[in-house]
Amino acid sequence: MKKRDISEISVQFVKGIGPKNSQYLEKLNVFTVEDLFYRFPFRSEDRKTPLSVKKILSMALIPELCFMTGTIQKIISSKSPRRRAQILTVVVEDHEKSGQFNLLFFKQRIKYALKFLEVGKKIAVWGNINLTPSGIFFSNFDFEILKNGTLSFFRIVPVYKTSKNINLSIYRRWIFNALESYSRNAVEFIPNSVLREFAFMRRDEAFKKVHFPETFEEQAKAYKRLKFEDFFIYECAVAYNHFSFKKTKKPRKYTLKKNILTPWRKNLPFEFTEGQKKAILEIFNDLLSPYPMHRLLQGDVGSGKTVVALSAALLIKENGFQTAFLAPTLNLAWQHYETMKKLLKGLPVNIGILVGGMKAKEKKEMIKKIKEGQVDIVIGTHAIFEESVKFKNLALIIIDEQQRFGLYQKAILTQKAISPDILVMTATPIPRALAMTLFGDLEKTEIRELPSGRKPVETIQLSSDEAYERVRKEIEKGHQAYIVYPVIENEDEKNVTTAYKLFSQEIFPDFRIGLLHGKLSPAEKKKVLDDFSKRRIQILVSTTVVEVGIDVPNATIMIIEGAENFGLSTLHQLRGRIGRGSAKSTCIVTVETADARALKRISYFLKCNDGFELAEKDLILRGAGQYFGTEQHGRMDVKFSYNLTLEAMFQDEISDLKLLRLARNVAFKILKNDPSLKFAPEIKKRIFKRFASGFHLAKIS
Ligand code: ADP
Ligand code: MG
Repeated sequence: MKKRDISEISVQFVKGIGPKNSQYLEKLNVFTVEDLFYRFPFRSEDRKTPLSVKKILSMALIPELCFMTGTIQKIISSKSPRRRAQILTVVVEDHEKSGQFNLLFFKQRIKYALKFLEVGKKIAVWGNINLTPSGIFFSNFDFEILKNGTLSFFRIVPVYKTSKNINLSIYRRWIFNALESYSRNAVEFIPNSVLREFAFMRRDEAFKKVHFPETFEEQAKAYKRLKFEDFFIYECAVAYNHFSFKKTKKPRKYTLKKNILTPWRKNLPFEFTEGQKKAILEIFNDLLSPYPMHRLLQGDVGSGKTVVALSAALLIKENGFQTAFLAPTLNLAWQHYETMKKLLKGLPVNIGILVGGMKAKEKKEMIKKIKEGQVDIVIGTHAIFEESVKFKNLALIIIDEQQRFGLYQKAILTQKAISPDILVMTATPIPRALAMTLFGDLEKTEIRELPSGRKPVETIQLSSDEAYERVRKEIEKGHQAYIVYPVIENEDEKNVTTAYKLFSQEIFPDFRIGLLHGKLSPAEKKKVLDDFSKRRIQILVSTTVVEVGIDVPNATIMIIEGAENFGLSTLHQLRGRIGRGSAKSTCIVTVETADARALKRISYFLKCNDGFELAEKDLILRGAGQYFGTEQHGRMDVKFSYNLTLEAMFQDEISDLKLLRLARNVAFKILKNDPSLKFAPEIKKRIFKRFASGFHLAKIS
């Protein structure tokens, strides 16, 4: 009988879990044994060998956290002299009988402790030690009455994030049980020859050793294998696109009719820049060729990518087909919609918008129009694809400001029967070292210049007070301002809300101030942005939500507070919000750190106005973690927070960037011989699962 894969086994079958606990686990997004295995410890603690009292007294430097065991000698209840609160002191003789140490319990913990503790019992303790003239004291610690087979001591102990319904040591037991029973069900899908050649751990072993390693080196090897696997699936998807889709002719043929394109060009209030012309030419060549376009259009913020993309959409329209235009956020979708409506005024082109938050009736109507072909260009978020939307004849997909890797992969994989033309646009240039690997299946076009007449944004560093003074002057001239606040953990709204109060009540009580952050509802966000673009708001206080695409030419000054908290690409994106009109614009950073690396980053930002150069610098200084996001962004895309720095590549033998390249080479070798993965069904299954699930792209009828 074929073994069931861990992705097909519900967690409730793991010894100790059962139906009730599996409900708690579902809240942590754990449904299958595979989910459980991929929930890595966020820390592992070295609790292998207990320290004796003698050893501790001889140490020059006592470790921050210590592991001790021994036998309980005395349990003493007393009152603290000052507060008259109860204290429980438990005296323990260490395992070598070299001396005694004490555990202090306060408040609620006393009752809990008394339930378990008895003189003569053996106990294990992990925590902070205080060394005082009257002995060794633990006051902040974990303990356990020792039983055979404990998982929490005498080993490297994994620590997990759990919920209030799940006790950590019980959770640890579940993982252990799951690994015991099911690790051998983890299907190995990396070819044996690859495992051997690069000495990668097998998959089942890697799961075991990530959670319960004998040594930290072993754990590092396990992580390396699992990271490789993650990159490998990504790169197999890239290779799959590369080898299969591009070789398939598209079932459509376009010609350049110019019956819309020419009036469109004549209508525009400006001439295309040379860069735009070149980009349009390359894109048109792709569209007119028999094979589907897979092109990445990189161009600095403000370089005018939107009209380039629209030109492509119009060629499609001239030939009677539809275009989907994907914006990264709801606001940008609306903004694009408004802008394009204006740009296309008077032309026989219908545009529509389809996003979450629309009234049900409007939405239904739009879906009907799309199906019947009454809309030529549909603007939306990726929700366009999640809805059961049917296009009459979708032919071109434009993905704007692509920041989530995998979105593009998804769009293609789910489309394979129809071979759409795809244009991915980004203002966050991908450093060359990564571009090859991440977008190795895309042709590239760069727009390197800004429309003429633009004055480059001046960037300076000031104190906050000086910065506010500059803002005041600028607003008095009739301009508008952004003040950007860093996101700090989950505190961003709090942080920015406090700042907002300070600005509106104390610093700028005489100006109209708006607040924008991620926790506002879509309708609230839209209102704030509308108010800002209609000048009802003079100063917009915001988190990085303003980062992408917002276009208010009258805003000429921006303060980025605590700029050290942002990466160069983000800073550059933020700065791109200003300098969009004819007036001179200023970007002011305030900095609150002495960290040399951060200061170096800021100094690049002050000096350099070129997004491409900054992206390269960012990769060197900060790594590509930011390109991938972190674990929190969901397991669809990535499982790790990657450390893909160029620096690391030269120093560290197993740097992530090296692994990524290796994964690319291996994937391309495999796919070259087997482009449809006929002989590797497990890999094929995984790339589709990872990039296609939950993503029902409309079918061309
Ligand atoms: P991005 O590349 O950042 O997406 P946009 O497409 O939003 O840039 O363009 C920024 C602004 O520049 C828009 O207001 C757009 O109308 C304007 N623009 C685009 N092309 C030109 C041009 N050739 N000359 C002058 N302005 C232009
Ligand atoms: Mg744009």
